[in-house]
Amino acid sequence: MPATPALLNSLTVGDIRITYLPDGAGHFSYDVFPGSSQECWARHAAQTSDGRWVCSIGGFLVESGDRKILVDLGFGDAVLEVEGFVTAKSGRLLANLGAAGLTPAEIDTVVYTHMHADHTGWTATGDALTFANARHLAGPGEVSHWIGRDDEPFSPAGQLPFTSNFEESKDGEIIAPGVEILHAPGHTPGHQCLVISSGTERAMILGDTLHTPAQLQEPDLSFMFDVDPVQARRWREDIVAKLAATGTTVGACHFSGSAFGRVMTGQGQRFWAPLPG
Ligand SMILES: [Zn+2]
Repeated sequence: MPATPALLNSLTVGDIRITYLPDGAGHFSYDVFPGSSQECWARHAAQTSDGRWVCSIGGFLVESGDRKILVDLGFGDAVLEVEGFVTAKSGRLLANLGAAGLTPAEIDTVVYTHMHADHTGWTATGDALTFANARHLAGPGEVSHWIGRDDEPFSPAGQLPFTSNFEESKDGEIIAPGVEILHAPGHTPGHQCLVISSGTERAMILGDTLHTPAQLQEPDLSFMFDVDPVQARRWREDIVAKLAATGTTVGACHFSGSAFGRVMTGQGQRFWAPLPG
């Protein structure tokens, strides 16, 4: 079965509801994982379609009590075409927020796991913030990293005029009941994850710690746009071991099929067990 982008999907972690809000999808050449072979992708055909890696694009809505938090803002109303490398189309995040029963004005907090363009796309609509009533949080050093890097792939250049509205998060900061920031630099300098806790249940929103479940079995599979691939890999291996040991629910915004699942171990392998929500 060829991969299909992840759908609008909700689950609960104790009293907290998490909803994946699709924005769109990209189809990438395998070169986006430098050095990866056709044989490698033949082992992970369920992540591919027509010889391309299928990359969901979207964010997560986290509802804790009366708090409404968006984690990442998709790629925005956009089409991207780089011949032989990627085709991507997005623009559905606000419609999916509406399908989840909310308007942009009801969002009280925006958290960027990092500021690549496919995570910041809906920051502004015209010359105003889309989520006008929200606090906007990015990791330490993330905004400053992107200043002067307008020409880099997936630069959030169009959003930089709005970053004076952003605050820097702190590691361990609890931004709402049961919603905690976990700094995880590597993919970018200010990359961060979210830990969701309610009662005895736990989930983690991974940001770009993992791009595809194939990375659970292929530790050499690194993403082309990791700013510090060594640090990103160290973090990935560390967190994957913890996720496998604890059975924590995972939210992974670029996975196809379902954005939710668990890392399981069996027969000496780690694998992804998707959750339907
Ligand atoms: Zn990304």
